Amino acid sequence: MSINPDFAFSNISDLLPTSCKMMNAFSSEILKTRGGRIGSGMGTLLEALWGYMMNQALLENGHNIEIAWFANNQYNDFACLDKTAEWNENTRTGELFRIEAKSMNTGADESKAHFDVLHSELNEYDSLLILVWEWRNIESNYSSPQVVDAFFNLSIPITLLRDELHIARGCSFVDAHSCPDGCSPDNCKHHGEPLNAAGKRERLTGPEIRRPSNKVSYAANFGGLVRMLKTNNEAARSVFRSFRKNDKVADEYITFIHRLFPAEEASQYTVSELRTVATALGIKSAGLSASSLLDEIRQNPQYMQYIRDLLSQ
Ligand SMILES: [Zn+2]
Repeated sequence: MSINPDFAFSNISDLLPTSCKMMNAFSSEILKTRGGRIGSGMGTLLEALWGYMMNQALLENGHNIEIAWFANNQYNDFACLDKTAEWNENTRTGELFRIEAKSMNTGADESKAHFDVLHSELNEYDSLLILVWEWRNIESNYSSPQVVDAFFNLSIPITLLRDELHIARGCSFVDAHSCPDGCSPDNCKHHGEPLNAAGKRERLTGPEIRRPSNKVSYAANFGGLVRMLKTNNEAARSVFRSFRKNDKVADEYITFIHRLFPAEEASQYTVSELRTVATALGIKSAGLSASSLLDEIRQNPQYMQYIRDLLSQ
């Protein structure tokens, strides 16, 4: 009997905490190091390790689902497969969905990783995995990379939020009928490519004539895991609030990023908005600055739900 993608997605989602615990146990044992940092390859190593540990977790739960690696350099890092089926990565036969893995170190301002896949390149159950990790002391003089938080959910709702905010910030997407490279609409490979507010291409695959300069081939800001949530005007703030209220996946993504980057949350809301939330939580808001208000609000473990429900349109 063939496996339903929804079933596979739910199982992987349920086993995410288990896979991270297994990673941490393995890291404490094997990836422990004394002294200096191992360096920049650690995030990539952890992303791959997740695939192994998730497979182990799936096996222990008796599922006929497995995680596979792509041999070529497609954007996706993993495919979730029906174990009993033949896999053909070109036709997607045997695949239930694909998973793009990203890692973030808590010490960095923002992950170098970009979630810049186009909506049109995704299937319904294709998912985004984000592993947040940091160096932890595990015994005297030894430290090991430990996963401290993780996100796993559907990619398409996040691309919709990302793309609407991109437009609301005054940026755009190429339309094949008016491609800057002058392609005929039938042959344009640039349709849907993001351009920044200055009209420069955000990805290497965008129109050549829109490269930022002779030296810089593309802008590469599109899809920054934190940056994609920035709002710099009323229209963007309205998109942000509407998605947060109406889309469960978008809300979960925003909650995840704001938990990791509290300054992003602070910059999103006005003093009067924070006062509304404070009042609902029974906090005396008179005379408090925005940052003091937020400090008080954050004492409530459910405060993000209040922010979402009270400040959304
Ligand atoms: Zn074109």
